[in-house]
Amino acid sequence: MMDVEKTSLIPTWQQELQSAFIDIDQLLTYLQLKNSDLTLHRTASKGFPLLVTRSYADRIKKSDWNDPLLLQVLPQPDELQQHPSYLNDPVGDAQASVLPGLIHKYHGRALIITTGACAIHCRYCFRREFPYSDNSANRSQLNSINHYLSQHKEVTEVILSGGDPLTLSDSRFRHLIESLSKNHQIERIRIHSRLPIVLPSRITKGLLNTLNASSKKIILVIHANHANELTNEVADVLFALKQIEVTLLNQTVLLKGINDNANTLIQLSLRLFECHTLPYYLHTLDKVSGAMHFDSGITNTYKIYQQVQTQLPGYLVPKLVSEDAGQPFKTILPTND
Ligand code: SF4
Repeated sequence: MMDVEKTSLIPTWQQELQSAFIDIDQLLTYLQLKNSDLTLHRTASKGFPLLVTRSYADRIKKSDWNDPLLLQVLPQPDELQQHPSYLNDPVGDAQASVLPGLIHKYHGRALIITTGACAIHCRYCFRREFPYSDNSANRSQLNSINHYLSQHKEVTEVILSGGDPLTLSDSRFRHLIESLSKNHQIERIRIHSRLPIVLPSRITKGLLNTLNASSKKIILVIHANHANELTNEVADVLFALKQIEVTLLNQTVLLKGINDNANTLIQLSLRLFECHTLPYYLHTLDKVSGAMHFDSGITNTYKIYQQVQTQLPGYLVPKLVSEDAGQPFKTILPTND
């Protein structure tokens, strides 16, 4: 774990975030990639701009346009393709919103949109068009959320999502965890975050203390799509989380040209296990506008998944799922087609 309190020479996670790449030319220059015409890349970035931490950029192979990490973050002309089955809200968040910042879709669980901020912009993100400004839970909305939960006693698990909940300041994040921890009906707090991967310095002693102080069971779902994302520094912060008994799970999106082959997925599962994290879900692509070029196709998906199943022990095989708007649970896909 990076001990940011030890020395002022090491940038804080907030300083690292501020120095993230937001300019396509600067990122490509850093990666020693030359392109004379970036007009369409820039057009694709309008509304959902480039954002990449330096830590993540350092894991991208130089001079390689096809690096699987670069393909996750670089705005591409392909994003300008439109198709009627690709939507702004492919998973039905709007219809399941019960309060600003609260989505209640599944039995027993409710999801708080904690912020619209992320440390990286993943081009396949199903919330890339989400109207965060009207639908994020600020401090003042926590009372309304707790009131709603009290009317729905079956909810025993709260999911912190966004955006990325770990981009909240320490004080806001602590306030959120403390507030939920005081709620007796809540048994589990699940956090979905890419920050342990894309900004591992975020896992500070202060954050660990906040999580450790909660009386609730804490589950952290990291979102890794490729073994190259899981550096030793990432492994160290995941170990620190494991030591305070945070349950670590991973969900992956199957992405064409990035991880849509059995060997890549097998290497990811094996590396996750080394990093104390169990593979949880392998999601098919959510059909969000601008992400059509990431779709690997269902026939290919089944073929890849069967190969993964034949080569890994069951506990390292994530469930193959899709999320369908209006459904009361994720669809577990049959694998015998
Ligand atoms: S970190 Fe999560 S919420 Fe943010 S852009 Fe990536 S997938 Fe979307």
